[in-house]
Amino acid sequence: MEKNYYQKEIECMDIDSMKKLQTERLIKQVKYVWDNVPYYRKKMEKKSVTPDDIKELSDLSKLPFLSKDDLREAYPYGLLARPLSDCVRIQSTSGTTGKRVVAFYTQPDIDIWEECCARAVVAAGGTKDDVCQVCYGYGLFTGGPGLNGGSHKVGCLTLPMSSGNTERQIQFMRDLGSTILCCTPSYAAYIGETLHDMGYTTDDIKLKAGIFGAEPWTEQMRKEIERLLGIKAYDIYGLTEISGPGVSFECEEQTGMHICEDHFIPEIIDPETGEVLPEGEKGELVFTSITKEAFPLLRYRTRDICVLSREKCSCGRTLIKMTKPMGRSDDMLIIRGVNVFPSQIETVLINQGYSPNYLIEVDRVNNTDTLDVSVEVDDEKLLDDAEAKEANAKKLVAAMKSVLGINPKIHLVAPKSITRSEGKAVRVIDRRKLV
Ligand code: ADP
Ligand code: ZN
Repeated sequence: MEKNYYQKEIECMDIDSMKKLQTERLIKQVKYVWDNVPYYRKKMEKKSVTPDDIKELSDLSKLPFLSKDDLREAYPYGLLARPLSDCVRIQSTSGTTGKRVVAFYTQPDIDIWEECCARAVVAAGGTKDDVCQVCYGYGLFTGGPGLNGGSHKVGCLTLPMSSGNTERQIQFMRDLGSTILCCTPSYAAYIGETLHDMGYTTDDIKLKAGIFGAEPWTEQMRKEIERLLGIKAYDIYGLTEISGPGVSFECEEQTGMHICEDHFIPEIIDPETGEVLPEGEKGELVFTSITKEAFPLLRYRTRDICVLSREKCSCGRTLIKMTKPMGRSDDMLIIRGVNVFPSQIETVLINQGYSPNYLIEVDRVNNTDTLDVSVEVDDEKLLDDAEAKEANAKKLVAAMKSVLGINPKIHLVAPKSITRSEGKAVRVIDRRKLV
């Protein structure tokens, strides 16, 4: 099969040329930020670094970090590098982990962002003959506008559906023959479930691929979505602060996401010490944007935990890859002293044959942390059979214990009783924080 790329000269560039390009852009960008963003300049001065100290890629580690707290402190204009009259767009984070922050874009910033999304659409097999249904939310959230722009650039017939009204999503999908679906993985699962509830099968739709991101999802969830919708499901990653979706995207190999490193230089650091870790080690992902005009963040700490790899990819792209982030450092729950990621719980549930509809509740009772996991059963009848229910719950507790190291309390609940998500799913309620 002939391989397609949106920007082959960049996506398949030899590594030395890429490093040269990154170095040139980095040097220029640091000077630009120094001249135009007093907030960051002060941080550099505090570390006694000037733009003259940045001569090669390894000098990146001399620069100070930026964090979400900096963005909140500098809100709304403190990190802006251009007059507002040069900006054409504002987007905002979803506020998953606290107060929302805003990001600004010039027209060239939007063009680059959409090009990155176009790379993702082509990597998922998209061409101008495709019908691309975008059901990420539109508005301040970057999901909808980003994929919409990418789909346009590729020349797909684009359906700007936004999220919600799931039956109508399916009606349009059928009537207009959508071939590519873009939304959060949790919404994709919901759409798949609704399709079957409406009495259809995958033979009734033309979808071939999905581009899903904006939240962590497991390999097990991928298989579930692929089965429900009869498609190949591709991962896409991004964050508002750096542009939006398309910072990295998956190719047909499905072994990690290629980072658009001609625009965003990645590093992995030890989240505790801030020290840069060698390639292949797991740590916190940090990005330096080297082409952004309006909101050029240097060494932004994403809090997403993953691994970088330059291993050769069968798709022909040379762009460095990152593994799926399985949650942010601040998603991690510490329960009775044990570190637990919600994604670990999801993996166990799906491996044990349950659907990805679950809710994790953490509380503290008499100074002891409690972990309750509710999960839907496929067949309501099971709930009437106390013995079978008990046996199933016991089996699940044992499987959880072997993975997590602690015993959760399992609640098997009726099908469709857990609220479905049309955007980023809320899977954890931690009541301890309310005390
Ligand atoms: P918020 O930080 O408020 O959620 P964003 O909407 O900008 O704001 O979300 C960006 C974050 O979403 C990323 O930092 C990451 O934690 C998560 N994310 C995005 N895409 C993926 C993905 N494919 N896999 C896992 N997590 C993702
Ligand atoms: Zn690849």
